[in-house]
Amino acid sequence: MTIAPSASVIEVAGLRKHYGEVRAVDGVSFEVRRGEIFGLLGPNGAGKTTTVEILEGLRTPDAGTVRVLGIDATRHPDRIKERIGIQLQTAALYPFLTVSEVLDLFRSFYARSRSTAWLLEALDLGERRHAQTRHLSGGQRQRLSVALALVNEPELVFLDEPTTGMDPQARRSLWDLVLRLREQGTSVLLTTHYMEEAEQLCDRVAVMDHGHVLELGTVEELVTRRFHERAVHFDTLPGLDMAELGALPKVKRAVIEDGETVLYTSDVAATIAALLARTEVLGRDPTNLGIRRATLEDVFLDLTGHALRE
Ligand code: ATP
Repeated sequence: MTIAPSASVIEVAGLRKHYGEVRAVDGVSFEVRRGEIFGLLGPNGAGKTTTVEILEGLRTPDAGTVRVLGIDATRHPDRIKERIGIQLQTAALYPFLTVSEVLDLFRSFYARSRSTAWLLEALDLGERRHAQTRHLSGGQRQRLSVALALVNEPELVFLDEPTTGMDPQARRSLWDLVLRLREQGTSVLLTTHYMEEAEQLCDRVAVMDHGHVLELGTVEELVTRRFHERAVHFDTLPGLDMAELGALPKVKRAVIEDGETVLYTSDVAATIAALLARTEVLGRDPTNLGIRRATLEDVFLDLTGHALRE
């Protein structure tokens, strides 16, 4: 009999870890499905790292159940090690070994491994292959730590703030790599402070604060759950008064923000059609017409009362 692979690579229920008075993780539950990129978002101290380290089998929870690739991660961490990839904090790299040497060393720990050439290419470290790790820049070190997480061709990769310290170009190329990994069937759990990173990469996210998961779902779900309206915005046009704009179909609110007229609407198409009909009468086209929806950052502010990065 063959056993179908489980649809979930991570199942966490009622997870709790307290340090004295500090409730680092206080009843966290979620699952990560096979083949998805799942994001844990939250400010410093939210409990992300503690949660991830428990999943990796590096810390023991006070309460709760944790299954990783169908295995109880707290009782059998040894059984998952071959199959997961962990991005270690960069300080732990061997300072006097070269990039290639560290990769080869890590490859030797596993029965199955990717080639050093693949890893150097994927993380754009070819030119630094002979450099001792102590001579790497912050961003290069970060890329090496991601390469090390991929050495054993893991089914599930844990990336803890993978793009911190990277310049925008390196960040984008890491995003591409993460998306490529997903195409190859790898599941990814990542923690991040960067809302844009979550919006670009994550199939689903959990927003954490003070040891709790406050919200869970796709970015689209999180945004539309709280913000039902979209904003239609354009350069303010003389001849249109706010009362009139506020009365256009489906418009909930019309305001002027930073020289722009903004119409909050529950039906973008109906509102724009009516707006264009009205401006046609005036003989003017609205300029810089655009539509935006609330972002994950707005969700976070609304949920916690503070921005993610302050
Ligand atoms: P960061 O983004 O800073 O890593 P985080 O969301 O990952 O934040 P955690 O590192 O999980 O948060 O920490 C959650 C809380 O638990 C914090 O208040 C932290 O100070 C505390 N904490 C974490 N590890 C320990 C420990 N070993 N002993 C005592 N308190 C700890």
